[in-house]
Amino acid sequence: MKIRQVYWHIDESENIGGDNFKYCPLCGELLVEKNLDNRARQTCPGCGFIHFRNPSPTVSLLIIDGNNVLLGKRSQFPRADRWATPSGYIEFDEDFLTTATREAKEETNLDIEIIEILDVTDSFFPPQHHFLNIYILAGVIGGQLQANDDMAELRWFPLDGPLPEMAFEEDINLINRYIKQRR
Ligand SMILES: [Zn+2]
Repeated sequence: MKIRQVYWHIDESENIGGDNFKYCPLCGELLVEKNLDNRARQTCPGCGFIHFRNPSPTVSLLIIDGNNVLLGKRSQFPRADRWATPSGYIEFDEDFLTTATREAKEETNLDIEIIEILDVTDSFFPPQHHFLNIYILAGVIGGQLQANDDMAELRWFPLDGPLPEMAFEEDINLINRYIKQRR
């Protein structure tokens, strides 16, 4: 199987919006576009602030129990009502493994043990979003399964399928690769 790390989600109706500042977040001046490092960057004429745009780091969890994978039905935009691995943003004050255990607890109420880092992917949602996502393999060590946060429903699915209607191709490819590696 060919390894794929970069995914493009091009659907204008899924523009989540909101990453570009119009006013300086430090002093409130109107930002102006300047060419810096051969890129157009929003800069502040008042205080010198430069808006560097970077991907948002996220963590996704492949939670495995025996021959089953835990998936959640998303309740949030984008791709609400489709199924995905539990995932979330890395908070500024936490490392990504802490994010993994926190998100597992928040979204599934399960206590997990981290087994390994499976993959890193770039997911582009132009024009506003670019997620740099770390996939982590985890097992369950406690807790009662309960859908919370941005999961409407949680269910275990047999790894040998069929999978439900998935929100992201990234998850499908990761699960398929995991099955192959495990054999
Ligand atoms: Zn400013």
